[in-house]
Amino acid sequence: MRTVRDVDVSEVRYEFWCRRCSTEWAETVEVHRARDVVGEEFVTYAVRGLPCAAPEGRACPSCGGYRVRVLPGHDTAHEVASGDGS
Ligand SMILES: [Zn+2]
Repeated sequence: MRTVRDVDVSEVRYEFWCRRCSTEWAETVEVHRARDVVGEEFVTYAVRGLPCAAPEGRACPSCGGYRVRVLPGHDTAHEVASGDGS
């Protein structure tokens, strides 16, 4: 097991589109970026605290197909931190 340091967690909202049945859906994924003891960066993903596959490896919830296009995600933290009052 790796020793993890410098864990950086961000919530990213991804939008998906199935090339097979044209289903569209969106999901907020926690992206955990960390470095192991030799400084090698690795990324894991979780949804609601449960580890999950990378967004690129998602199956369509409607037809189960893997020909899923991932639309560019954006960090939801930017929406929360909207304190631009000056
Ligand atoms: Zn589909």
